Amino acid sequence: MSKEKETRSRFLPKDHPRYVSLDIRHRIMKGFDDNVVAKAGLIAHGRGEAFDYVVGEQTNQPAKGAIKAAAAALLLAKHPVISVNGNVAALVPKELVALAEVAKAKLEINLFYHTEERLSAIKSYLRGAGAKEILGLQMEDQVSIPELSSLRRHVDPEGIYIADLVVVPLEDGDRTKALKKFQKKVIAIDLNPLSRTAQWADITIVDNIIRCMPLLTEEVKNLSGTDAQILQKIVDAFNNRENLGKMIEIMGEYLRDLAAKGIYIPEAAKVFAEMKEDV
Ligand code: ATP
Repeated sequence: MSKEKETRSRFLPKDHPRYVSLDIRHRIMKGFDDNVVAKAGLIAHGRGEAFDYVVGEQTNQPAKGAIKAAAAALLLAKHPVISVNGNVAALVPKELVALAEVAKAKLEINLFYHTEERLSAIKSYLRGAGAKEILGLQMEDQVSIPELSSLRRHVDPEGIYIADLVVVPLEDGDRTKALKKFQKKVIAIDLNPLSRTAQWADITIVDNIIRCMPLLTEEVKNLSGTDAQILQKIVDAFNNRENLGKMIEIMGEYLRDLAAKGIYIPEAAKVFAEMKEDV
């Protein structure tokens, strides 16, 4: 048995009630061991897990609306680019390649914690997932976008620099703001509707990247071939502020409902009730 298989069978029992969540966590941990995920990426993942509880660990209606608007915007874009960081490469490498293919978008690696080793490790993950063209690999050829001080200001002259639309999954708020000020249309994927990224983007999909990437790819496929005017209508009808508001409302309602019951796990409620009867 390979080391990876052994670890999975020891620490990922298929009958664990939170198997899906553990499986996702395992991908992040493996990404960390492989130098793909930065230390801060582990913390960001924890924030995502916490927010996923609060959206009910499901793709809610407003997220579905944002996915449709994002698909239409991707099809309308002349030069769409998907920005890739370590967490994203660790979680959804194949899905990134699939989306890039159907949306005719480029994949560009852009890292907050940039090292040549991480760049190369992420490149291997993407290549392993079938990516042919990957931008952002040659630091010496990169150009700068204004308003950013960190290494993330370096972007590929063939990619984000000339893009009209940039997809930023699990992104840091400073960079999203800088991209916006640099006149890019921005699609964010972020479980936290209050993050600066979620707030600065034109279209924010508040959902787990694991769930929404396949849905987004499917929606792009569904809408491809649709008249540009109709696609534009879909984009124009979408209001990000309103959509974020609806997502926050859903979170509030969900928590209010749980507050009324005082319990999240039905099985625990049953066991406690049985224990009470026994006394
Ligand atoms: P900001 O700078 O935008 O205010 P931040 O400081 O949290 O927010 P990052 O740590 O760079 O910025 O962003 C990571 C974001 O990704 C967080 O908002 C987190 O909730 C979100 N996130 C983490 N894991 C996932 C996931 N699997 N799917 C979707 N979003 C996720």
